[in-house]
Amino acid sequence: MENEVLIFGHKNPDTDSICSSLVKEILNKKQGCKNCKAFRLGEINKETKYALDYLGLKAPELIESVEEGQEVIMVDHNEFNQSVQGIENAKILEVVDHHRISNFETSEPLYYTAKPFGCTSTILYEEFVEKNIEIEKTEAVLMASAIISDTLLLKSPTTTEHDIKALNELAKIAGIDIQKYGLDLLKAGTDLDDFSEEQLINLDAKSLDKNGVKFVIAQVNTVSIDDVLKRQEKLENAINNTIKEKGLSLFVLAITDILNSNSEIIALGEKANVIEKAFGKKLENNRVFLEGVVSRKKQLLPPIDKNI
Ligand code: MG
Ligand code: MG
Ligand code: MG
Repeated sequence: MENEVLIFGHKNPDTDSICSSLVKEILNKKQGCKNCKAFRLGEINKETKYALDYLGLKAPELIESVEEGQEVIMVDHNEFNQSVQGIENAKILEVVDHHRISNFETSEPLYYTAKPFGCTSTILYEEFVEKNIEIEKTEAVLMASAIISDTLLLKSPTTTEHDIKALNELAKIAGIDIQKYGLDLLKAGTDLDDFSEEQLINLDAKSLDKNGVKFVIAQVNTVSIDDVLKRQEKLENAINNTIKEKGLSLFVLAITDILNSNSEIIALGEKANVIEKAFGKKLENNRVFLEGVVSRKKQLLPPIDKNI
């Protein structure tokens, strides 16, 4: 791996993290960077698998840690606690991301593209267009899938005009019907039956840190919140174990109804009451229903972070 530039998204990778890594590899190769290679920092989820299977692509190789001085490109994240082990001592050449910037620093100059769009792939799409680089079907499907996933088919409040335009253009190249392909993709990710409760709370969990106060916001997509709540007791056991193991002050699990765009929250930990302050609603049975809330980045994290 010495001469390779490793490209990867965050741990507990979602569709954007995987697809944008693959697209960034394609984009860089089209510009002559032959030694760039996409990797993943964890198991791919069923939604992402649907997109890769659609294209007949294999998942990128798994990587667990990097050596000191390893050249890397980070996509879809910047916080070190969401990144690969050893990132502090890697040589970060570039970041392409659409999240807040936190717990991040480098000792050397770098390329950093941050745009408050709904998806990293939208930023990459615009890079293709600006540089007049041809977008072929593979990268079109990958980017379209990432945008559909991150914006919940353009329904999330994180959606911008940029995402709408990108998805419409990409769908033409990809030859997909956005609604049909999009719902199939999202639904593939809601099949939670074969996951244990431990796996379920880690499928899409983000570790966060505010001045040493550690907390996690995890999210699962579903077409039936009630179905997931049937497992509440076991989910709470798994969450409480994680709280103990990781020394967390708060664990929030958002169970998000992708069809109706609402979320039920389960909150546990010594700072569970932060949820009551953040949303002005009482927790009952460790739960609260948040109407119209689907975005961790825009609707969950800011009020929680402010009150923790
Ligand atoms: Mg992501
Ligand atoms: Mg993303
Ligand atoms: Mg997400």
